[in-house]
Amino acid sequence: RAPMAKSKFEYVRDFEADDTCLPNCWVVTRLDGRNFHRFAEQHGFSKPNDDRALHLMTKCAQTVMQELEDIVMAYGQSDEYSFVFKKKSNWFKRRASKFMTHVVSQFASSYVFYWKDYFKDQPLLYPPGFDGRVVLYPSNQNLKDYLSWRQADCHINNLYNTVFWMLVQRSGLTPVQAQDRLQGTLAGDKNEILFSEFNINYNNEPLIYRKGTVLIWQKVKEVATKRIKLPKETEEKEVEVTRTRSKAVPLHCDIIGDQFWEDYPEILAD
Ligand code: ATP
Ligand code: ATP
Ligand code: MG
Ligand code: MG
Ligand code: MG
Ligand code: MG
Ligand code: MG
Repeated sequence: RAPMAKSKFEYVRDFEADDTCLPNCWVVTRLDGRNFHRFAEQHGFSKPNDDRALHLMTKCAQTVMQELEDIVMAYGQSDEYSFVFKKKSNWFKRRASKFMTHVVSQFASSYVFYWKDYFKDQPLLYPPGFDGRVVLYPSNQNLKDYLSWRQADCHINNLYNTVFWMLVQRSGLTPVQAQDRLQGTLAGDKNEILFSEFNINYNNEPLIYRKGTVLIWQKVKEVATKRIKLPKETEEKEVEVTRTRSKAVPLHCDIIGDQFWEDYPEILAD
């Protein structure tokens, strides 16, 4: 790089605020789709859960994990995804704005880039946007509680949406009528409506809807064909080689209880 002479304008850099993340804390970046209520309507998302949209979100999150540094896990539901950077990460000197903007822009460009792989004939009608934030969690318990909070949110919303859309789609209630019907009901009441009126046992609904998606690093074997030239032969030959590669693998499991953290202790290790 050519050495750059300092200009008299250089002082303006001092106006930049220091946003270094506190050392030893978990850095969590959460993004959320901007006005996705409308985006879902305009792009014909099926209700309450559109699988294409959920899988596209996860593809984008996998791209973020693969392309950026130091992300140990991610959790997503609806139009949001949270990314956890390792405590000791020194990526971009722990600048919050770098974590946040790289995550959000990589995610947003991936959403557009991979759109057609998931939505096929449904054209993307306008460029979607995402907001982002960075939150620091100083203890493992705080981090677990953060992720539990997001998964509990997924559960509460999905239970509500499942009953709401049953009332609209199957019982022919208007959205306002369905909303009134559910006003003040508890989880048990919603389960009961699903069971008695629609013969649905909520616990048998797909895990991806009820639990959201956890992305963790797993070693996976990959078989690839490679052209190589053996020392004593003249012709190149195709050989099968197996490689182990780390991939961000989706799970749809409970992360509120202890089991998940006992099964994957490496996530919280330094
Ligand atoms: P970083 O991730 O740190 O920003 P970088 O490679 O993007 O790394 P920059 O200092 O942002 O580094 O420089 C952008 C580089 O992109 C330039 O060095 C130049 O080579 C290239 N570049 C950007 N725009 C153009 C353009 N319009 N024409 C040719 N080259 C360009
Ligand atoms: P904001 O800009 O404040 O985030 P929003 O409209 O995106 O506004 P959210 O609270 O983020 O509000 O809710 C996201 C909305 O996107 C949900 O209400 C839901 O209607 C829709 N949505 C997101 N993902 C899906 C999906 N996979 N299937 C169906 N609907 C979805
Ligand atoms: Mg530049
Ligand atoms: Mg929001
Ligand atoms: Mg949103
Ligand atoms: Mg949301
Ligand atoms: Mg650059």
